[in-house]
Amino acid sequence: MRCRRCKDKAVIYIERHNAAFCENCFLHYYYNQVDKNIKREKMFKKGEKILVVVSGGKDSMALWDVLNKNGYDVTAMYINLGIGDYSNRSQEIVENYAEERKLPLIIKNIKKEYGLEIGKISKKLKRSPCSICGTIKRYLFNKVALDGGFTTVATGHNLDDEAATLLGNTLNWQEGYLARQAPVLPSTHPKLVKKVKPLFTLTERENLSYILFNGIKFIHDECPHAVGASSILYKEVLNKLEEKSPGTKQRFLINFLEKGRKHFQDVREELDLKECKICGQVTTTEICSFCRLVEISHS
Ligand code: SF4
Ligand code: ZN
Repeated sequence: MRCRRCKDKAVIYIERHNAAFCENCFLHYYYNQVDKNIKREKMFKKGEKILVVVSGGKDSMALWDVLNKNGYDVTAMYINLGIGDYSNRSQEIVENYAEERKLPLIIKNIKKEYGLEIGKISKKLKRSPCSICGTIKRYLFNKVALDGGFTTVATGHNLDDEAATLLGNTLNWQEGYLARQAPVLPSTHPKLVKKVKPLFTLTERENLSYILFNGIKFIHDECPHAVGASSILYKEVLNKLEEKSPGTKQRFLINFLEKGRKHFQDVREELDLKECKICGQVTTTEICSFCRLVEISHS
């Protein structure tokens, strides 16, 4: 098979675009896709201070690398979630990447800094580790961005993640989540920072190819808490559909964003936002859910 752009020998075929690329032309396609997403969705501009959240996995490492190469002003943030060996190895990968390229990196450690342990809290509250983890991550993304003067938080969510989330929200008719699912979550309060997903049209496979072609190290394992998550089942189902009908995931997501999402806007509740009495971050209750987790873990 020949590369669509330069007619050299192709190394990757992207079925949904019916296009094959050599390594160089794939990277050209990848840079363009990310830049197009950033511009079309008005995510951010050159010169703005962007906080990119990295986990050490292929998607966030690809995002960090491509934003740097495309000339954006990015600082990375890694959160050590205290998930055993998985957290230690992923922190090492992220630190090495930053050190080798002399890039700015902020490290947060939820156990050392806040005394938080996801496993213990999850058992105490009988809530899934992922829901505790989600609360902690959302809080820190916003707090670190706000304290550091960043205009935007960028995450490595890819097309597979977004299509699986959409499938889950649709199967359960989660109208509120459907109203909010978008590649850009604008700020709705002066103390809430905008969140964006520049890789939302790129698949896991494309992010992996980008990482491999660039020789970037990443953590291959999934977080141990991801086992059995319904998102994995949704991804498997979507992969089966994609196999039979290439482009299904992209059509499902993009058509929802363009045609479906608007029908859910009237279910968006006007939230009564206030500042947490303990930490001052934005919340809908007197004390924010993060500060409540800190209190619970010390009780
Ligand atoms: Fe957190 Fe769950 Fe993701 Fe692990 S799988 S990083 S616990 S959200
Ligand atoms: Zn608080």
